[in-house]
Amino acid sequence: MTNSETEVAIIGGGAAGIAAGRRLRAVGVDCLVIEARARLGGRAWTMTDPSGSALDLGCGWLHSADRNPWVSVAEQQGRNVDRTPPPWMKPALPIRFPLDQQQDFRKAMDALYDRLEAMLAKGGDVPAADALEPGGRWTNLLTAVATYISGAQLSQMSGRDFINYQDSEVNWSVIEGLGMTIAAAGADLRTAFETPVSQIDHSGRRLKIKTPKGTIAADQAIVTLPTALLADDEHLFSPALPDKTQAARGLPLGLADKLFIALADAKEFEPNSRVFGHTDRVATASYQLRPFGRPMIEAYYGGSHAAALEAEGAHAFFDFALSELTALFGSGFARRLTPIHMHRWGADPFARGSYSYALPGMADCRAALAAPVNGRLFFAGEACSRCDFSTAHGGWFTGVAAADQAIALRQGMQV
Ligand SMILES: Cc1cc2nc3c(=O)[nH]c(=O)nc-3n(C[C@H](O)[C@H](O)[C@H](O)COP(=O)(O)OP(=O)(O)OC[C@H]3O[C@@H](n4cnc5c(N)ncnc54)[C@H](O)[C@@H]3O)c2cc1C
Repeated sequence: MTNSETEVAIIGGGAAGIAAGRRLRAVGVDCLVIEARARLGGRAWTMTDPSGSALDLGCGWLHSADRNPWVSVAEQQGRNVDRTPPPWMKPALPIRFPLDQQQDFRKAMDALYDRLEAMLAKGGDVPAADALEPGGRWTNLLTAVATYISGAQLSQMSGRDFINYQDSEVNWSVIEGLGMTIAAAGADLRTAFETPVSQIDHSGRRLKIKTPKGTIAADQAIVTLPTALLADDEHLFSPALPDKTQAARGLPLGLADKLFIALADAKEFEPNSRVFGHTDRVATASYQLRPFGRPMIEAYYGGSHAAALEAEGAHAFFDFALSELTALFGSGFARRLTPIHMHRWGADPFARGSYSYALPGMADCRAALAAPVNGRLFFAGEACSRCDFSTAHGGWFTGVAAADQAIALRQGMQV
């Protein structure tokens, strides 16, 4: 088959699209991944630094690793899965954040979840911030951590959706890179690269998928685009699908960005240790020191703080880290730091954000977004997952589910 014809078109070659493609191929259904970028993986993206270390600019953690299908994919590829507990499961360095305060903070985090569960026990929804203790000592740090978890502030997001997320609290990583693993998992799929889809015309007997390189005809399509793109383009589908646009608008993409910084004389620190820049403000970064024992720091920025830095340019992330790290470790620390790499996910035209959260009252948009249309259009991607959203395994599960729906209908359709 040429790239102008397929049985099932998969729009987007990230975790969800790759999982869908593998599932379809396993049962002998022809599929074509149509991908806007020149690479597979989407928000899963590993870069290699000059020393040969794999840097995950997007997803890095195999969250809920004991039930995460990417673990066996990585192992089948012969990669090394690191089962060391993540830095956030152990105390941070006690610099300006003594251990007793850290315990107090952990209790405040648990109490936030408990209050939210209690508030929502009888149904309904509230902004997650409603469960903050009024005037609580840890409100700013809880809010900052929420921006790392969800890419948004607690006041912006649905409490119901926040507690729907299921975390087995087992977190592993791939030394060669999770992004590398995910992209390699799709390497055998037939893929049209640098082919951004501009419209999916579902008015006729066959789908017509319009791209700058021509129109692709398909029986069915699995759409895995990030919600920020679905929400913005009312004309992506012809005829329009206002229910899908509305569902995507209920699930905006939060923002999280990482900056990797080389650290000279790194052995002073334990591998996989961690500090917060500040514990009393929302606009602060979290720093993982010596990830995988490497001589570097992974700085993590979230929410409106990350958005403000993106607006200033990539240098602003390093300047900010420099200001926080020298405040913690002394002015001489600056000489030991050199920026390596980062990616501004909000400015990325094929992502426009990092991972989805639900607006208050909008947790059900995940199911609405995932629902198939007329047996021909199927939807997948992290935002379609009720309880594994914002993750690469959420992408996998929704991709496989959409492929299974397409397969079942094909068998019924006898196309
Ligand atoms: C900084 C950061 C850290 C993260 N950390 C973790 C983590 O530790 N663990 C974890 O599990 N998850 C993490 N995530 C989230 C995870 O990366 C995503 O949830 C997951 O990769 C999303 O997969 P997806 O297939 O749903 O979407 P995507 O990966 O966004 O795939 C959609 C694809 O569609 C393509 N596309 C866009 N527009 C078009 C178009 N018009 N035509 C054709 N193709 C198009 C895109 O290029 C992309 O390849 C992180 C994300 C970021 C940004």
